[in-house]
Amino acid sequence: MDTALIEFLQTKVPSEYIFSDEPMEKHTTFRVGGSADCFVEIGTVEELSSIIRYLKQTERNYIVLGNGSNVLVGDKGFRGVVLHMGKRFSDIVVDGTRIKAQAGAMLTVVSKTAAKHSLTGLEFAAGIPGTIGGAIVMNAGAYDGEMKQVVQSVTVLSDSGEVMVLSNETMNFGYRTSVIKNRPFIVLETELVLQEGNVSEIEAKMADFNEKRRSKQPLEFPSAGSTFKRPEGYFAGKLIMDAGLRGFRIGGAQVSEKHCGFIINKGNATAADVSELMDEVTEKVKERFFVTLEPEVIRIGEF
Ligand SMILES: Cc1cc2nc3c(=O)[nH]c(=O)nc-3n(C[C@H](O)[C@H](O)[C@H](O)COP(=O)(O)OP(=O)(O)OC[C@H]3O[C@@H](n4cnc5c(N)ncnc54)[C@H](O)[C@@H]3O)c2cc1C
Repeated sequence: MDTALIEFLQTKVPSEYIFSDEPMEKHTTFRVGGSADCFVEIGTVEELSSIIRYLKQTERNYIVLGNGSNVLVGDKGFRGVVLHMGKRFSDIVVDGTRIKAQAGAMLTVVSKTAAKHSLTGLEFAAGIPGTIGGAIVMNAGAYDGEMKQVVQSVTVLSDSGEVMVLSNETMNFGYRTSVIKNRPFIVLETELVLQEGNVSEIEAKMADFNEKRRSKQPLEFPSAGSTFKRPEGYFAGKLIMDAGLRGFRIGGAQVSEKHCGFIINKGNATAADVSELMDEVTEKVKERFFVTLEPEVIRIGEF
């Protein structure tokens, strides 16, 4: 245990929010991954900026995590500190057609809040199991909607400790990417602009999208959603199916039989099983169709 680090953290964050050797399988939707040396539930911008200052000064590693629904943490875990933006950092405020949501707010909750206030535009996000922070970084999207369409601005913390407000244009949103994928910014909150709509129509649209998910996606198994990005001109799931990989398995990891674009954890998968299966699928699809699949899932830590 890193006593100096823990002692420092205890001066900034209540002890019940600091964890040593925390199993990351508890914090990722794949339900795999070894322990992080340290895991902290962040509650305020002040906590976050003072912790980051200390981690940089003392040359310790850190990563930011939302709901862990787009990551694969290695079996040997993460040597450093996981800064978790979750429940403690999840306020949502509605003002007319604008919603301000902190990074740790779940998309499912923000979209339900929008519906309750008759605001339309966020129905696409109702079934995406991530936080607002993760969704901004990834420009999460579904059913012709994406974060780019509803974000007015994003408040971030730079690695030099500066709080900045970035406009939609500055965010440079692209397909499952944003400026933050390449810059060390931490999303603190976002302002969304929606339109006035009709509650029952909004709720019906959300229910329809969720039903589509339930019928097409293997939601009964742990996964990180679509494992690969959509290659231009193709669908990853179709390429994988056509390469004969439906149900293909390494250890406890399997190409879903229901939706080949998903790699699922059949119950006892290791991160290495998932990672090897991702590599094998990529190689077989490349061999067969000369298309290179790019992972959407982000690998973290030691495998
Ligand atoms: C069943 C299932 C279905 C899914 N369906 C969809 C879908 O339809 N569309 C879609 O786009 N995605 C989908 N996903 C993937 C995932 O839910 C989204 O990418 C989501 O936006 C990730 O959010 P998160 O909070 O879980 O991020 P995490 O997985 O925790 O993190 C993702 C990345 O963002 C970084 N990050 C997280 N929070 C912050 C922050 N506050 N500041 C800076 N960096 C941060 C992390 O370091 C990491 O690099 C699905 C996943 C699952 C399991």
